[in-house]
Amino acid sequence: MNIHEYQAKELLKKHGVKIQEGIVASTADEALEAAKKLNAETGTSWYVIKAQIHAGGRGKGTVNETGSHGVVLAKSLDTVPTIAGAILGGTLVTHQTGPAGKKVNKVLIAQDVYYPGDSAPKEYYMGILLDRAKGCNVIMASTEGGMDIEEVAENSPEKIIKEWIDPKVGLQGFQARKVAFKLGLEGNAFKEMVKFIFSLYKAYESSDSSMFEINPVLKTSDNKILAVDAKVNLDDNALMRHPDLLALRDVTEEDPAEVEAGKFGLSYVKLDGNVGCMVNGAGLAMATMDIIKLSGGEPANFLDVGGSANAETVEAGFRIILQDPNVKAILINIFGGIVRCDRVANGVVEAYKKIGNISIPIIVRLQGTNAEEGAKIIDESGLAVHSAILLKDAAAKVQEVLG
Ligand code: GDP
Ligand code: MN
Repeated sequence: MNIHEYQAKELLKKHGVKIQEGIVASTADEALEAAKKLNAETGTSWYVIKAQIHAGGRGKGTVNETGSHGVVLAKSLDTVPTIAGAILGGTLVTHQTGPAGKKVNKVLIAQDVYYPGDSAPKEYYMGILLDRAKGCNVIMASTEGGMDIEEVAENSPEKIIKEWIDPKVGLQGFQARKVAFKLGLEGNAFKEMVKFIFSLYKAYESSDSSMFEINPVLKTSDNKILAVDAKVNLDDNALMRHPDLLALRDVTEEDPAEVEAGKFGLSYVKLDGNVGCMVNGAGLAMATMDIIKLSGGEPANFLDVGGSANAETVEAGFRIILQDPNVKAILINIFGGIVRCDRVANGVVEAYKKIGNISIPIIVRLQGTNAEEGAKIIDESGLAVHSAILLKDAAAKVQEVLG
């Protein structure tokens, strides 16, 4: 699960990470109030107005309706409402959002930390993520902050510093010092960076995150080390341990069909193809997508109904797949282990009748306990549903209905 920059910064601050302070606002009036409050609290008289969406590249992105960028500097209090107004409610398109962009519902009014006239601000990159191959977390840092890190990784990989953390002993002092040293820091800035890395790692571990990306980390001319941006990805499997973090979920940022699927305990990922599929088990779902490709189709989605393929989940699955106008056929591939094929077949027939206006062919392949009975139920239902027991027959039927 992703969270917004303003929420991520609160999480960091709670663990002692120094951040660029800010206050979130949903309207131009609130933005002005936020700026006044920020002025009283931090003394800043310039403000950075930042669109809050779950995507990066906001600074270079453009709001369709107004042409404003997604991160804008306001050099006086009275320009804050106008600038915020040109971002709020608009559709921000960045290289990470795709051409459809994302609607901006909130802006963060942040203090300006690049002091006017400051000749020596320096931006760094810092990320923490799980290295699955090595089975431990890795801190990644670079002197090339503020830039697209994927570009740095491709063009000058030597500029990316990596430090792997042994999960049994945690982050060690020498490791944090090594990173700060390799970033070329000395004196107070060095000490501040070591503290920054420790607090950041603590925030990462205690929130069960799977990715942190702080780009840029700023060194001011008076040697403060601050998180100016913050991207946090929390591990979904650990969210039950963090009800406070789960409460930060913003479903408006997620794909509506995927949110709907989640309500029924279905794992759904939309893809661009023409054959929808509904399968029990992630491995079988992957294999079914391969079968679709081999039959000349393209999978329109990944959909794992999990262990419980009953009338209710099948109906939910149908409805979600049918929302996609590209779908020309649906392949249901269920292995009846604990769940019996005849029950699944009845569920399919029931769901099919309940939805009523399904105009595309459905191929149901049931294998396992009571497979024959299941196929019989499908064949005798009188509906435009084709049954198959062998996977190669199901594939042939997909090929046939696609023409
Ligand atoms: P992103 O474009 O979505 O990654 O958003 P960031 O939060 O990284 O901001 C984009 C850029 O805005 C940064 O790289 C900075 O150059 C600039 N920026 C952010 N905060 C400030 C600030 O306080 N003052 C000034 N002058 N620029 C800032
Ligand atoms: Mn950034």
